[in-house]
Amino acid sequence: MNSLNHRIDEAARRHGFVLVGFSRLRELPREAFYREWLANGRAGEMDYLAREPERRFDPRRLDPRLRSVISLGYPYESPRVPDVDWRIELRGRIASYALGEDYHRYVLRKARAVAAALGEARPGSLARVYIDTGPVLEREWAREAGIGWFGKNTNILNRERGSYVFLAEIFTDLELDATAEPYGDYCGTCRRCLDLCPTQALADGYLMEPRLCISYLTIELRGPIPVELRPKLGNWIFGCDICQEVCPWNPAPNGPGNDQLAPSLPELMKLDEEGFRRRFRGSAVKRTKRRGLLRNVAVALGNSGNPEAVATLAPALESEPEPLVRAHVAWSLGRLGGVTARRALEKARIRDDDPSVRRETDDALATNFA
Ligand code: SF4
Ligand code: SF4
Repeated sequence: MNSLNHRIDEAARRHGFVLVGFSRLRELPREAFYREWLANGRAGEMDYLAREPERRFDPRRLDPRLRSVISLGYPYESPRVPDVDWRIELRGRIASYALGEDYHRYVLRKARAVAAALGEARPGSLARVYIDTGPVLEREWAREAGIGWFGKNTNILNRERGSYVFLAEIFTDLELDATAEPYGDYCGTCRRCLDLCPTQALADGYLMEPRLCISYLTIELRGPIPVELRPKLGNWIFGCDICQEVCPWNPAPNGPGNDQLAPSLPELMKLDEEGFRRRFRGSAVKRTKRRGLLRNVAVALGNSGNPEAVATLAPALESEPEPLVRAHVAWSLGRLGGVTARRALEKARIRDDDPSVRRETDDALATNFA
């Protein structure tokens, strides 16, 4: 490692990054693969992935002065889930990365501090900092920089750190030495993530179908969740950690159970706009907006199979202002069944004038109470 690389490495570690790698910008070898991926509509509603693909494939097309990329990995915890039966206690599940302050904010702050150190070392140099600008290509640059391998779960994996890291990149016009050794692939014959993904979103060949992934369905998708996928969501209401939790390269969670990972579903269902804003201020969970989160909460309540959930869902079918949420509440009441659920659905069929809610109400009655 030359002295400039060394200084950057030191600065990054001082700011808490545990993975640091360098690569020269070049055309990504898998550009054709991603072009096909986008052309097949795999980005779903993640329009930002399809926006300016040229820049993502090779940032030199945006700024020809750029020469190198510094890939950084910032660790996060995956605490233990409280040891309770979510179906009995009606608890949802939130992906570990979403705990606490939104990582976009604090990792960006830290990556900018590294970029400032680069500016001090080479005054006048260019440094563009990115975080989560495109989940796909960010991982490609991380692999190029040798900080990990592209696992079958499509995360960057590192033998010491597993995949619980946020990635960030600094593109610069400096000619940095590329990290010498490409990282090996240590998935071997393991297929745990593929076999245990509840929606079969992962396929052989290190491929993921985002439109099936619970992370996409609970966070990126703005409209209704496809009916056939709803039961597979279980109690995930923001993201999904399964393909990371089952990976043998990730550390087993330790310490006491963290209640924030498994919030009360009835409590969330009662949040109004103001309550949602207050509870998730500065958190990544804000991304779904209230209507998206409550849509997911409704589905999780339906998946609980617990008749007590009807006491939360039936009043929501009447008073919830968002049709998207009411539509999912109707589906869940149908799944749970019982006299109270049926009455609530019959009432909504007459009173609710939103066509999507009426459709879901009709379907729920026809499927479960015919
Ligand atoms: Fe499957 Fe969940 Fe991984 Fe998505 S995040 S690929 S749904 S296990
Ligand atoms: Fe690779 Fe197994 Fe981890 Fe999947 S679970 S990413 S196959 S090591």
